[in-house]
Amino acid sequence: MSEQQVRKRPVRLSSLRLRVLAVLEEANAPLTAAEVGQRAGTSTASTYRALGFLVQQHLVIAVPDGNLLPTGDERRVWRYARCVEKRHHHHFVCKACHSIIDIRCSDFERALAALTLNSEHLIESHELTLVGTCVHCLSGESHPQ
Ligand SMILES: [Zn+2]
Ligand SMILES: [Zn+2]
Ligand SMILES: [Zn+2]
Repeated sequence: MSEQQVRKRPVRLSSLRLRVLAVLEEANAPLTAAEVGQRAGTSTASTYRALGFLVQQHLVIAVPDGNLLPTGDERRVWRYARCVEKRHHHHFVCKACHSIIDIRCSDFERALAALTLNSEHLIESHELTLVGTCVHCLSGESHPQ
């Protein structure tokens, strides 16, 4: 990503947030907050704050670490990655290589829109993360990154 894209958004990014964003920009795989902090040279607290802000601004996505999902552990590890796709979409997370892949499904969105219209509740948004094994890991190939 270029600085231009950051500037285009009506969001002020502090230098600390920019540093965190740059780390994810350069990473070739989703990172844990600890890894981000290490690379950005930021404290744990400010790393979490910066990541929280970037996720809120849809500049970065947070997905649960696939390997820790089935345990139901409350202290599950999250991984963070840059997501440049602005249109609404979901993510597929590979348990083996931790890659995060953008997923779009119009049938699913239509079904959810129908649910939203027919619900007595005020449904404003939804989140969905699919977890499994990516095609590269299934075929035993090394991941093209
Ligand atoms: Zn994989
Ligand atoms: Zn995405
Ligand atoms: Zn959706």
